This record gives sequence, C-alpha cells and structure tokens, in this order.
Amino acid sequence: MTTKIAIITGASRGLGKSAALKLAQQGVDVILTYHSKEIEAAAVVAEIEQLGQKAVALQLDVGNSQSFDTFALRVQETLAQKWQRTHFDFLVNNAGIGIHALISDTTEAQFDQLVNIQFKGVFFLTQKLLPLIVDHGRIVNVSTGLTRFALPGYAAYAAMKGAIEVFTRYLAKELGPRSIAVNVVAPGAIETDFGHGVVRDNAELNTFIASQTALGRVGLPDDIGGVIASLLNQDNGWINAQRIEASGGMFL
Ligand code: NDP
Repeated sequence: MTTKIAIITGASRGLGKSAALKLAQQGVDVILTYHSKEIEAAAVVAEIEQLGQKAVALQLDVGNSQSFDTFALRVQETLAQKWQRTHFDFLVNNAGIGIHALISDTTEAQFDQLVNIQFKGVFFLTQKLLPLIVDHGRIVNVSTGLTRFALPGYAAYAAMKGAIEVFTRYLAKELGPRSIAVNVVAPGAIETDFGHGVVRDNAELNTFIASQTALGRVGLPDDIGGVIASLLNQDNGWINAQRIEASGGMFL
C-alpha cells in the first residue's frame, strides 16, 4: 500500500508535534508547518526520519490568507520532489494561538487576530488545499473543550473554535461525494506553550483543572497526538462530522 502523507499545521511543538510523531509511528509521512520556530521544526523532521518516515517542514502563517496560494504551490512542489506524488492524504488544521481576555476587555485587534488565525485561516487554507487532498482522504480540525464549557476570558477564542466545529460539519457534507471524512478533536486543557504556557506553568490553574477533570490530572500533548493519529487510522474512516472531545472528562 502507498505510504500516506499528512499535512499538519503548527507541528513545531505542542499538540501538532505530538500528532506528527504519533502518525510517523503509524507509518505516515509528514509535511509539517511552523510559523517562527524553524529550528524546532527541523528537530521534529529529524525525529520523524529516525522513525523511518519521510518529513519536510514548511513555513506558514495561518493568519495570512494572502500567502496560501504560494503555500499550496510549495506543497505541490514538495510532493513532487520528495514523494513523486501529486496529492496528500490527511490534513490536520492544528496551528493556533490563545488570547485570554474578558469580553469587556477584548480589543478589536485581539478579535481580528483570533479570527484570522483560528477561523479565516483554517477556512481558506483548507479551501486552497482541497484540490491536493486525495479522494478518500481525511481532515481533522482542532477545536477546544471551551466550546462545550465556559471559562471566563475565552469568549472570542472559543467562539472562533465553535465556528470551526460548524465548518467541520459543512466540510463533511460538501466533501462526502469525494469520500473525505472530516472531524473535530476538541482537547481539554493541555500542558503546552499555548497561552504563554499557562496551563503548565500556573500551579493554581493546573491544580484547579486537575480537580475538575474526572481522570484527575491536566492533559499532556501525547494525550491529544494519539487521538488525532488514531482518527486518521484506516479503521476509523467511518467516523465523520463528529466532535471528539479529549479532555479526560473535564467539567462533567
Ligand atoms: P503551542 O503554542 O504549543 O503550539 C502552537 C503551534 O502553532 C506552533 O507550532 C506554532 O508555530 C503554530 N502557530 C502559532 N501561530 C501560528 C500562525 N500564525 N501561523 C502558523 N502557525 C502558527 O500550542 P498547542 O500545541 O497547545 O495548540 C495547538 C492547537 O490546539 C491550537 O489550535 C489550540 O487552539 C488548540 N488547543 C490547545 C489547548 C491547550 O490547552 N494547549 C486546548 C485546546 C485546544 P511556531 O512554533 O513556529 O511558533
């Protein structure tokens, strides 16, 4: 069988990196993107190669939709040069940032930055890459537990992720004729650099979240990377248009 190729945005660290390594362990090759951390991205490429899979890191700003045509061309060139292929198999829309601000304090600039990165970027990047995804391919969009439960300070961020969940269902509907399944993974709070590493580094918040989580601790990147990789497993192709929360059971 031909080796599958996944594109994972924001895989220089955090959840994307974990997903990239888990997919490589499953025998999947990876095109990963980074925004600013080129050295970290190169290290992830090296780790994937050590696992016996091919990988390439490409720079991408998901907040700049004007750059997506050029990015799609680079993907095409990369597929041709590295794999002698015209299409890839899996798209994981993972890259993102968090901004913590109460509704009363949220600025238009913060709101626009979140829209551009978390929603508009995902919408149009997916649109531009659709011609390059194989029929029978898959898409996973990363949302958040915060679309189900509310914590003060995440209104704008969670609203954008809510939009991604709706977008996912529409993608699944429109891509059904191409046999492309589209799902959402909604992580609970995970210890990464996200939001200046607050979940990992703020002991009070970490303890609070653990106390509100059925499994009694905060999540780690591999708790999510494994879920994304298993969703893309051959056995899970009939799961479509679903929001799968991986939060250890937060706020039940
Ligand atoms: P990290 O901060 O650890 O990593 C973010 C990744 O996204 C990095 O690879 C970064 O690239 C990339 N990135 C950031 N901004 C941009 C941009 N403008 N364009 C392209 N890439 C960008 O975050 P996480 O791994 O924790 O988050 C990944 C996803 O998971 C996000 O969508 C987030 O909203 C979601 N999530 C996270 C949770 C958590 O608690 N950690 C909970 C629920 C959802 P670089 O390294 O080059 O800067």
